[in-house]
Amino acid sequence: MNEILIKQGTIIDGTGARSYKADVLIRGDLIAKIGNLENLSISKKIKAEGLVVSPGFMDVHSHLGFLMASPRHSKLLENWTRQGVTTIVSGNCGYSPAPINPEMLPDLEKYWYFAFPKEGLQFNWKTMEDFFNYLEKKGISHNLAMLTGHNTLRANVMGFENRSPSKREMDEMKEMLEESIRAGSIGLSLGLDYVPGIFSKTEELMELASVLTPFQAPLVPHARGFLGNLFTQGMREIIEIAEKNKIPLHISHHAGGGVSRARKIISEEIIEAIQRGVKISHDNIPFPNASTTVLNLFPPWAFSGGMKEFFNRLKDANIREQIKKEMSSFTPKWPPWEYKWWTHRGFNKNLFIFGLTKKENHRLNHKKLFEIADILNKDPADALIDLVLSEDGKIFYISGQFDSPLGEDYVKTIISDPNCSIGTDIVGLDFNTISPVINGAFTKIVGNYVREEKLFSLEEAVRKITSLPASQMQIENRGVIKEGFHADITIFDPATISCTASYKNPHVPPEGIEHVIINGQIIYEQGIYYNNVLAGKVLRKNYSFS
Ligand SMILES: [Zn+2]
Repeated sequence: MNEILIKQGTIIDGTGARSYKADVLIRGDLIAKIGNLENLSISKKIKAEGLVVSPGFMDVHSHLGFLMASPRHSKLLENWTRQGVTTIVSGNCGYSPAPINPEMLPDLEKYWYFAFPKEGLQFNWKTMEDFFNYLEKKGISHNLAMLTGHNTLRANVMGFENRSPSKREMDEMKEMLEESIRAGSIGLSLGLDYVPGIFSKTEELMELASVLTPFQAPLVPHARGFLGNLFTQGMREIIEIAEKNKIPLHISHHAGGGVSRARKIISEEIIEAIQRGVKISHDNIPFPNASTTVLNLFPPWAFSGGMKEFFNRLKDANIREQIKKEMSSFTPKWPPWEYKWWTHRGFNKNLFIFGLTKKENHRLNHKKLFEIADILNKDPADALIDLVLSEDGKIFYISGQFDSPLGEDYVKTIISDPNCSIGTDIVGLDFNTISPVINGAFTKIVGNYVREEKLFSLEEAVRKITSLPASQMQIENRGVIKEGFHADITIFDPATISCTASYKNPHVPPEGIEHVIINGQIIYEQGIYYNNVLAGKVLRKNYSFS
């Protein structure tokens, strides 16, 4: 049996408890013993003197689920390994690769391309169970816990229709969700700024989420208008859904509201809800930016009926004018179903476009939309529409505040909350994103935020990216250095661990990670990543229910 002895490290166990010195014995895929194990004769030893032995880090919010199915996935996830990540949560923002209705793939492949690998993705499954079986047979590089996405369920049953589901369609969605949870999916995600989830009224979400109640599985929403003027109503909507259904709520990338009064009001309402007994937690990206598909800058109604209709509308001169007008002037109002489904304003001046693959568009890649408009001598909306037509809709943007102290301060405030875990939320990974998140989300928390910013203790930093996300996502027997727990371990140097990547220089690798062990197997040591090890497991949740 595989045995590894980690000698004389400083154990930070992930619970927030004070560090202590001990040896750790790994046997098979488990942590077998912790203590003074000097006299054990084990052939594989790791000297950890002066280093921290921590549970492997968890990325609580990602779009890596689609990539996991690709033969290239372990290479694509190299950056996660180099940051010390051992477990990935995916299926966020309403998008899960399963369950899938193959008839919907032509639409999904265009709208959801932001989460896809460049090539080689084949949907060799239909149900969540099939998907898990497929991954297990093929092997995966990291542990994966999957949410089931509402957008996926809705698209499977009713395509991109902008109406409420019939009773039969509602039942089908509920059935698919229950089947997925029974197969081991950990909960339900919503992506209410995206098609087709954006076309749902509160009552649909309320009914769908009722499936979670007997399992006590979490609702994990990307709320409506989360960065726009519907922030308050969008937050109230998801709190109400969780409270009425008596289920845990985990708010995705909870950065909305800015330093406004709205944020203060919602923070108070969240505290009140928690006092009433609603379980609420959240996560955030440790950088002041977000990236997603450019398609979410278009009026939602333009996608009604599917992607083919969308492209036809862009080619119709009158409809194109209407779209342009709304993109630059529409102000969303509540409830969205009475205001053309818009949940947030179209584009602003700070959008960097990427993912352009056509030769004629290469010179425009990684430029701001407004610069592109200048270069092409077009109105920004026209420039965007023409690029979308030319690239078949498969383009992404990154927006927010770039290397700005104000933006960083806001992020620090959110992340300091003891209830906030950390996610990468990267899109367009296979298309050379300029987000520094890929090179230091986790090393920034444990390094820069502890040593330079003194935001929290090293023990607390480790808790935020280990046992906290494990408990939020109900992942059992991981996230803590404890005898009998799974041997997911990250060993790092507390003096050097850091993120030096920035928007100007996003491709600087993280520093300070020495060893990464997944399920008792070393996948990374001192600069070398063994991407053929495939030590990851599908973390099938086994919900006990009444
Ligand atoms: Zn999202």
